Amino acid sequence: MHHGAHEGWIEVISGVMFSGKSEELLRRVRRALIAKKRVQVFKSHLDRRYAGVERLSSHNGSAIEAVPVVSAREIRTRVNPETDVVGIDEVQFLDSEVVSVVRWLARRRVRVIVAGTDMDFRGEPFGSMGELMAIAEVVDKLHAICVQCGDLATRNQRLIDGEPAPAEGPVIQIGGAESYEARCRQCHEVPEVGRHQMELEIAVEADAWADRVQYW
Ligand code: ADP
Ligand code: ZN
Repeated sequence: MHHGAHEGWIEVISGVMFSGKSEELLRRVRRALIAKKRVQVFKSHLDRRYAGVERLSSHNGSAIEAVPVVSAREIRTRVNPETDVVGIDEVQFLDSEVVSVVRWLARRRVRVIVAGTDMDFRGEPFGSMGELMAIAEVVDKLHAICVQCGDLATRNQRLIDGEPAPAEGPVIQIGGAESYEARCRQCHEVPEVGRHQMELEIAVEADAWADRVQYW
């Protein structure tokens, strides 16, 4: 990509877990460092999966220093005025203010590279990812390999005790015993136990009303 004199734009690296987003972010950050750019990397404090909170790491084991942040606003206060490139990993976990923060950075001629998973475990847009993809100059959508069938995986399968987790669970489960795997659209399973139960309850309630209407 051309890096001209008038830098300042937004790049989004999106995709399912295990698709190589952190690897790609690391690659771009390393190249920026080779180009002698001043780089700062942040990541959501919610991502403690691999190397602890101080490092941005990928599933292949490579790592670089990353500052954990609790809120998007914290990035605004922690960015040095001389910084040329800002990387943010696990951006889907940050609050919606992240959109205005990355806009603000890009206007100040910072090259902003954000990486995040674009869908939650239900296959719905995750956090501000959709908006970030819309306002970015460059969007890359990466894929993993579906562990069920070997096709391209686009979805995060949440598992609880090895079984597909129901749709009713929270989008961000902190300290949960769940695990994730990458799956394609066809192999992605989100049982909606609660909905069937709810439909049943509504039907029962409707019957009760019908009885009462008759009675009146
Ligand atoms: P992300 O940040 O998107 O979660 P990472 O960059 O941390 O991804 O890790 C990508 C690496 O994960 C791949 O290079 C590969 O070695 C490994 N990996 C593990 N499971 C899968 C899978 N199902 N599909 C593709 N890569 C996988
Ligand atoms: Zn599949």
